[in-house]
Amino acid sequence: MNYFVDKNGYYGEFGGAYIPEMLFPNVAQLKQEYLKIMGEASFKNDFQKLLKDYVGRPSPLYLAKRLSEKYKAKIYLKREDLNHTGAHKINNTIGQILLAKRLGKTRIIAETGAGQHGVATATVCALMGLECVVYMGAVDIERQAPNVSRMKMLGAEVMPALSGSRTLKDATNEAIRDWISNPTNTFYIIGSVVGPHPYPDMVARFQSVISEEMKLQLQEQEGRENPDYILACVGGGSNAAGAFYHYLDHHSVKLIAVEAAGKGINSGESAATSILGHLGIIHGSKTLLMQTEDGQITEPYSISAGLDYPGVGPLHAHLFKTKRAQFLNATDDEAMQAGMELCKLEGIIPAIESAHALAALAKLKFKPSDVVVVNLSGRGDKDLDTYVKYFNL
Ligand SMILES: *Cc1c(COP(=O)(O)O)cnc(C)c1O
Repeated sequence: MNYFVDKNGYYGEFGGAYIPEMLFPNVAQLKQEYLKIMGEASFKNDFQKLLKDYVGRPSPLYLAKRLSEKYKAKIYLKREDLNHTGAHKINNTIGQILLAKRLGKTRIIAETGAGQHGVATATVCALMGLECVVYMGAVDIERQAPNVSRMKMLGAEVMPALSGSRTLKDATNEAIRDWISNPTNTFYIIGSVVGPHPYPDMVARFQSVISEEMKLQLQEQEGRENPDYILACVGGGSNAAGAFYHYLDHHSVKLIAVEAAGKGINSGESAATSILGHLGIIHGSKTLLMQTEDGQITEPYSISAGLDYPGVGPLHAHLFKTKRAQFLNATDDEAMQAGMELCKLEGIIPAIESAHALAALAKLKFKPSDVVVVNLSGRGDKDLDTYVKYFNL
């Protein structure tokens, strides 16, 4: 079984590039150039140097002793929460902006839901001195005011998407419309392992630094490269793709993907795409997505804004279908409790997205000798209001 993208841009039956004809030259150029550019020594050098000096990599692999005692296994946290801007998303935006510069692009566009990818994009645009336009649903602009302010401080223009439900999928439509109107000078930085080929593969490769480091760190701390389990939350799937990447072909490593069940899988308010989704096309990619009988995208729900994406990347759809990864889910309540537990046991306030991965610890049966890595995708500073309201603090 092959878990990597094939030469036509597919993972099994999922993936591809379903794009308007107007975008064809852009996507074709990217497809032709991305592997060549990413393989150049000067590119690798620039990428690694920024990851080290600007992002603060390698992120630590921390043995969480009290959490380990509670769940009766050796539990490590991969600390993506310690990255500059507070999550894994910066790994990808650094990679893509370096690529955009080499392609001679001068203007960057992005879509954002919760604002985290918008902030990571605005950050690298400031770093490189490039113009930045971020599309965001008008509803999300109101819900995520602090991230809107951050993007503005970083010099980005935040454009409200006023159509449809005025959330992420509408922002995505606006960004694609912009790209069609500005095909020559503009690069579209997509924030997860979604979108038309080659985006899912490109983003997975940029995020794969996570599992590359894990291998070295586990070798150092455990005397073996391979853990028994890797747990990661899945919105679009980029932090999970990065944490799984170098282990995809190592079948002794159990890969656990955790989706947001919201108020419950069957509540109608959920974002558990793999279980509830059906084959369809979203964001230029054939994958599993939540939709009505006549193919209209269903609005997803999760207490964590970063997980309420109605689709899942084509790699994850393939991992689900082939059962290479086990897909679990956690409700809002389970995630909030797991987030609070990490605060109390380890002194770390996790992003609510990451708390979904932590919530899956209680759903697995470990042996005491098992080495378990939880990818802690982000920190919880952005979620303080939600924690405070939920726990009446
Ligand atoms: C955006 C985000 C996610 C979800 O995105 P993926 O592409 O699935 O990784 C998870 N955790 C944090 C902290 C995020 O900001």
